[in-house]
Amino acid sequence: MAILVLGGAGYIGSHTVYELIDAGREVVIADNLETGYREAVHPAAAFYEGDIRDRAFIDSVFEKESIDGVIHFAANSLVGESMTNPLKYYDNNLCGTKVLLESMVAHHIDKIVFSSTAATYGEPERVPILETDHTDPTNCYGETKLSMEKMFKWTSQAHGLRFVSLRYFNACGAHVSGKIGEAHNPETHLIPLILQVPNGQREYISIFGDDYDTKDGTCIRDYIHVTDLAQAHILAMDYLLEGGENNIFNLGNGVGFTVKQVIDAARAVTGHSIPEKMAPRRAGDPAQLIASSDKAKNILGWKPVHADLKHIIETAWNWHKNHPQGFTEER
Ligand code: UDP
Repeated sequence: MAILVLGGAGYIGSHTVYELIDAGREVVIADNLETGYREAVHPAAAFYEGDIRDRAFIDSVFEKESIDGVIHFAANSLVGESMTNPLKYYDNNLCGTKVLLESMVAHHIDKIVFSSTAATYGEPERVPILETDHTDPTNCYGETKLSMEKMFKWTSQAHGLRFVSLRYFNACGAHVSGKIGEAHNPETHLIPLILQVPNGQREYISIFGDDYDTKDGTCIRDYIHVTDLAQAHILAMDYLLEGGENNIFNLGNGVGFTVKQVIDAARAVTGHSIPEKMAPRRAGDPAQLIASSDKAKNILGWKPVHADLKHIIETAWNWHKNHPQGFTEER
């Protein structure tokens, strides 16, 4: 029996596949390679190229393979793009998940672990954020992820399927082997953008706002290593396989760093001065997002092991300096 990883050629999906295979699990990947890379596909996994919006495609995967449960990463995830092109996000994230769920129900596949986000909370009422805190997304990306969670809830009620939703905070870092890492085009995330400076691809890093109500005026985020996220998916799938109820978990280290602190840590790791320039605030950015992950620790037994910020940046730097253009496939 295999685990089907949808979006297994993407950043967090590919790292999860590596951990599943290391744990001796059988893995099937489906990915449309719109943002994922064939090179990120683990050679020991079965791979199907196709789109979850294509019912015949997803049906054929369930018919050919013997699938125990699904881990679902197949979605668009750029906050800025979701604001300028919201219908793309409704189409891929919501319509795609609708087709997927129809096919899962038809094939009696009743377990799904789902990649959600801290963006479901919007401006937090307090930090650290608890899973029970209010959800009022400030961007369309977060809105579609929250709607996907609700789609699972109602489908579960009607058809008995069970789900775990994992709300990630700031995913970062790369596999310690250096074989896979973060490769977005365009890149919008802080750590890879900072590392473009010592890599000779950018002259300075822009700081989006230094007038927030934080210790140095820059935004605070909870940076969580991608391999720690990957482990949480395996624990969540095991929880469902053992009969666990529907659940939602935050995944973060519970420690916040300002943009300036992240830049300083990258200077220490790379030995480069990394010039910075102040820039206006970016629309939709809350001042601080920090997770309480006590629930994932208590119920899933999750324990992040790559929590140190410098170590996280070292793994990212190890990837980016050896793969300055990311994967070699054209985008
Ligand atoms: N950020 C920044 N400069 C950049 C990119 C990001 O100052 O070139 C800030 C951004 O405003 C946010 C933090 O870095 O406060 C993390 O942003 P990222 O896009 O990595 O993740 P997000 O928190 O949006 O999911």
